[in-house]
Amino acid sequence: MTQVYLNGHFINQQDAMVSVMDRGFMFADGAYEVIPAFYQVPFRVRQHLARLDFSLSSIRIENPLKHEEWLRVFDQLLAQNSGEHQSIYLQVTRGVAPDRNHLWPKGLEPTVLVMTTPLQMKLDEDFSHVQGMTAITTEDLRWKRCDIKAIALLPNVLHRQRAEEAGADEAILINEQGQVTEGSSSNVFIVKGNEIATPPKGMPILGGITRDLVIELLQFDVNYQLSERMVSQDELHKADEVWITSSTKEICPVTILDKQPVGDGKVGPVWYETASRYQRYKQQLATEYRENPPT
Ligand code: PLP
Repeated sequence: MTQVYLNGHFINQQDAMVSVMDRGFMFADGAYEVIPAFYQVPFRVRQHLARLDFSLSSIRIENPLKHEEWLRVFDQLLAQNSGEHQSIYLQVTRGVAPDRNHLWPKGLEPTVLVMTTPLQMKLDEDFSHVQGMTAITTEDLRWKRCDIKAIALLPNVLHRQRAEEAGADEAILINEQGQVTEGSSSNVFIVKGNEIATPPKGMPILGGITRDLVIELLQFDVNYQLSERMVSQDELHKADEVWITSSTKEICPVTILDKQPVGDGKVGPVWYETASRYQRYKQQLATEYRENPPT
């Protein structure tokens, strides 16, 4: 039976109920995080918790748990639920209000939900299974604070659905100036020659934890010039390689964009190099964990 954590209790998922007056249900008034856990160890968890702090303070909800308390909840759920690798989903809403009013009453108790789902991940460098993804470009319909990981995801849902209906795996979003912002649930990198470019962090995009790790893994490599800069739709279409990144997708090569091949239409060499560094980094953390399991 899958266990979830709801407002201080570990319970069966089918018994987890929230009031219809919860402001998350009424107004999508809340924030969330998705944290991958490999070998039951949450990956880059400090970074995810820092981003949660940022999201919650931006929407003026006090974080209901201290970092150490979040970690204890994650550990307990990961141990109770099956899956060597799991994805942790947490959501904090402003809480249950007495009536439906945009204005929030003082003193609400935030609603806290944490759940996990099994993650199918390969933790090795055998990329023989890797196939490129397909993506489309589409107009970015979202609000001005995409740096907040808000549970209000209606535009993202519509973008993803549009991609699906066009036979694609992901939608890459283009702003009014014809520049790439990010994917419907991912960040975007392009490779042209020896330059690897990704849009800069700021209010138009979510500061992805995977994006930051990719930058960390590449930034001191003299073979590449890493740029955090605006990328035009035209540059995206003319790139040698396009990647999207997220905690559950990791780094995915896009080989078909708007029904045209990206570069030569094959998974590119810079992707192979970056993805193997990423996998090595994960392996290293997993090995350290196995040699020194937390007591
Ligand atoms: N951008 C958006 C809009 C997302 O929803 C996500 C993840 O879900 C990302 C970027 C990637 O963020 P992360 O690497 O932290 O998963």
